[in-house]
Amino acid sequence: MPEAPLDLLLLPTWLVPVEPAGVVLHEHGLGIRDGRIVLLAPRAEALKQAALEVRELPGRLLAPGLVNAHGHAAMSLFRGLADDLPLNTWLEQHIWPAEAKWVDERFVQDGTELAIAEQLKGGITCFSDMYFFPEIASELMHKSGIRAQISIPVLDFPIPGARDADEALRKGLALFDDLKQHPRLRVAFGPHAPYTVSDDKLENIRMLAEELDAGIHMHVQETAFEVQQSLAHCGERPLARLARLGLLGPRFQAVHMTQVDDDDLALLVASNSSVIHCPESNLKLASGFCPVERLWQAGVNVAIGTDGAASNNDLDLLGETRTAALLAKAVAGSATALDAHRALRMATLNGARALGLDEQIGSLEVGKAADLVAFDLSGLAQQPVYDPVSQLIYASSRSCVEHVWVSGKQLLDAGRLTRLDEQRIIANAQAWGAKIAQR
Ligand SMILES: [Zn+2]
Repeated sequence: MPEAPLDLLLLPTWLVPVEPAGVVLHEHGLGIRDGRIVLLAPRAEALKQAALEVRELPGRLLAPGLVNAHGHAAMSLFRGLADDLPLNTWLEQHIWPAEAKWVDERFVQDGTELAIAEQLKGGITCFSDMYFFPEIASELMHKSGIRAQISIPVLDFPIPGARDADEALRKGLALFDDLKQHPRLRVAFGPHAPYTVSDDKLENIRMLAEELDAGIHMHVQETAFEVQQSLAHCGERPLARLARLGLLGPRFQAVHMTQVDDDDLALLVASNSSVIHCPESNLKLASGFCPVERLWQAGVNVAIGTDGAASNNDLDLLGETRTAALLAKAVAGSATALDAHRALRMATLNGARALGLDEQIGSLEVGKAADLVAFDLSGLAQQPVYDPVSQLIYASSRSCVEHVWVSGKQLLDAGRLTRLDEQRIIANAQAWGAKIAQR
């Protein structure tokens, strides 16, 4: 029986598979069938395959979709609400009161949709979310076609949508059950931070995560102040406390980690935990500098996230990756730190690995899901192109994101969202802004 035709054959000028590392394929074709990558071959050979649709992508770089490994989607509606403040003041005097006043189901619905639209337009095909009313956010993720990890927020105090940590966990487990078979959405546990979740709750989360094979996504050692407070209160650093409680491991996603001493590094390496680096949020809140190169050289999987738009103030992972590459050199005192190819790997395959999705996404390999982005490198400011990956990381902005596919479904076509109504999303965000500004 002859093989079924490809659903789509893409013919870009450059194709960067990310795995194997450092490779750029010229004039190759990528074939998709049933949402998966089924063919990766030189152009002439690829064209021998029957395909229902063939798309020429001259001057375009085809890469795995970007993975935004940390964020708080609905907080996009607080973008620019309180800027230029230290973390504690920003959180305690501005963000937490605003959340108490405004966050409800409708807020999460409109904010999450805004974040998904912004991310798709920026070449992000998978993101990690940690926010209130995760069951509402999951509906928007489902409808939009994007891929996501939904972290159930757990704190010791009441939050919108849950009176206490037990209720948050109960609702989270119900959501876990609902989405168990979902092809693109997975649920993880999101204990907010070591200073907002007590030992007994963390032990409970460890047990559940083990039982369900779910990720644990947590802000850890975001500032030096957090480490000092922990030392003063319980005589140990936050990461050491989490290690003692058994939370570290391949499922553990430590967000921020601007403070890393030798013992922390040893714990991360031994436990095979991932670190999620959020350089722009750390810069803007003056939180500190994650030693990315040092972690990478020690073998720690380092992914990258934008954090929420309230502290960044955009969900631009390509821009974030450029910042990360530049900052890594300054922090390491070495221009060879985090080169462009490794930076792209951090924004794709490492993100997938942190979220436990590296068997499915993160690189362009036969058998993986067709989560792709086509970047237009034909513009004036990108000429001439010696190394398209260098051009992408150091000379491009997200405005060059042209097409995006998730599981073979095109969600962005020539810069236009195919499933979401951009004008309606903008109008909704403006309405929220007008209401919140009157506070
Ligand atoms: Zn965060």
